[in-house]
Amino acid sequence: MVEYVPAKSIVNRVQNGWFGVDYNMNIYRGCSHGCIYCDSRSDCYRIDRFDQVRVKEDALRIIRDDLRRKVKKGVVATGSMSDPYNPLERDLQLTRHALELLSAYEFGAAIATKSDLILRDVDVLQEIRKISPVLCKMTVTTCDDELCRRVEPHVSVSSARFAALEKLSAGGIFTGILMMPVLPFLEDTPENVLGIIDRAAHAGVRFIYPAFGMTMRQNQREWYLSKLQELFPEDGLRERYERRYPYQYQCVSDRAKPLWKLFTARCDEKGILYKMPDIIRAYRLGYEDNQLKFY
Ligand code: SF4
Repeated sequence: MVEYVPAKSIVNRVQNGWFGVDYNMNIYRGCSHGCIYCDSRSDCYRIDRFDQVRVKEDALRIIRDDLRRKVKKGVVATGSMSDPYNPLERDLQLTRHALELLSAYEFGAAIATKSDLILRDVDVLQEIRKISPVLCKMTVTTCDDELCRRVEPHVSVSSARFAALEKLSAGGIFTGILMMPVLPFLEDTPENVLGIIDRAAHAGVRFIYPAFGMTMRQNQREWYLSKLQELFPEDGLRERYERRYPYQYQCVSDRAKPLWKLFTARCDEKGILYKMPDIIRAYRLGYEDNQLKFY
């Protein structure tokens, strides 16, 4: 049974938004995709029963009213703290209808997801991009589907995400990869990083935004370490983390520097963007007239 939670507003203004977005929109609360490293599980966000997805009550009416009230048009982001294409979305179609509202009110869209369910809504994204910028980001942390099944157990595997990116790109949608986190001792290898870039290039992806490491903080830290123990007992990974990252929030891979060098060289070779100002400029290109109105 679907559980609903009350909400007063859903489309909220953000200052200096990531990827240059103007508003943030979360229709769902919590996420059932089960990524073992998920930062949204941290105590500071105060999301109880994080793995159970709940739905904001009367979401579409609230979103419509929020959009009507906005004095400035802009790009609306969705996909932080929850995945807009979680299993409930298949039937409820709230993300789809919210995108239709963005299209009707001439707002742009910036979506972050790990699910290939996004392909269902290509037609709406194509409508939006006739007038406003559209950006689709898929997180990919490993190009190994087996490892993916362990660390991101309840969502499309990496190969399915690459296939989705290829279809979105072929449909004229500006696509990119969030290569974050790159888990120390598990994913921070040249083979993995270069493998992701090569498959991204094949899929027509325009940018990759990386972070060579991860974050750990209260509650999520203990969750992550216990999952390592459960999933990789033979490798002693938990102990390696506890020794190397005894208390840090930012857990940077020891290989971050050489990986960054490899990463930038291969991205340059493949024509893939990785600097934030370049990415923002590229996905807004062609909307300058609207942007005068927007920004
Ligand atoms: S998809 Fe995102 S929000 Fe959901 S569990 Fe994974 S990292 Fe967390």
